[in-house]
Amino acid sequence: MRVHERPSPNHAPRPADTPIDTLVLHYTGMATGDAALARLRDPAAAVSAHWLVDEAGGVVRLVDEERTAWHAGVSAWRGHVGLNGRSIGVEIVNGGHDFGLPPYPDGQIAAVLALAREIVARWTIPAVNVVGHGDVAPMRKADPGEHFPWRRLAHAGVGLWPEAGDAAPATDIGGALAAVGYALEDAPQPTSVSAALLAFQRRFRPEGPLDGRADPATRRRLGEVAAAYLLAAARCAP
Ligand SMILES: [Zn+2]
Repeated sequence: MRVHERPSPNHAPRPADTPIDTLVLHYTGMATGDAALARLRDPAAAVSAHWLVDEAGGVVRLVDEERTAWHAGVSAWRGHVGLNGRSIGVEIVNGGHDFGLPPYPDGQIAAVLALAREIVARWTIPAVNVVGHGDVAPMRKADPGEHFPWRRLAHAGVGLWPEAGDAAPATDIGGALAAVGYALEDAPQPTSVSAALLAFQRRFRPEGPLDGRADPATRRRLGEVAAAYLLAAARCAP
C-alpha cells in the first residue's frame, strides 16, 4: 500500500501499561477531504487520527501508531473508557450526515479494508473491538454511519458481522447491548438505551428503521449479535 506522509502535530505518548486493542473507524463529516486534512493537522483544533483514507482510496499517515492520536474523545467500549490511549483511529473522507450521507466509493472501501487488515494483524486487535465512533460515543457521534459496509469488512476478516441465526430475541435490552460492548450505566457520560440502540441499528441493521426503538426486528437482531459477540469474546479471552 502506498502511503502519503502528512504528519499532524496532534498526538501524545501512549499511556503506560495499556495495550493497543481497539480500532475506531470514523467519517470526516466535512465538506471536502482537504478541509478535513487541514483540520486534522491544525494544532488549534487538537484533533487527529493515525490514518486518513480519501475518496479515491489514497492512504495518508497523520500520526505514528506508537503515539496516541486524538480521535475518539469521551468514549467507552467493553468496559474501557477514554479509548484514544488504546486505539488506532482511521478517518474516512465522507461528508456524513451533515452533507447528505454520500455513499462510500468502492475504491475507498478497498483501501480501508487493506489498511484495517494490516492494523488488526499488527496489533492483534480482537474482532469484537473493531468499532465505529458512533458505537463508542452514541450520545455525540453517528460515524461512520449506516452506509458503511461493516458486513463487507467482516467478510474480509475485520470485525464481526453475525448472520441471521436462531438466537432468541433480546428481552433484556440493556444487558444485550452491554454484551455487544455498548456502555450504559458504566458510560463516561449519561447514555440512554435509545441512543445506544440507534448506534446498534446503524451498525448491525442499517436497512432501518433507524429510530432507537426496541421493535421486534431490532430485538431479534440484538439477540443474534449479542450471542455472537459473547461467543467471540469468550474465544479471544486470555
Ligand atoms: Zn468520528
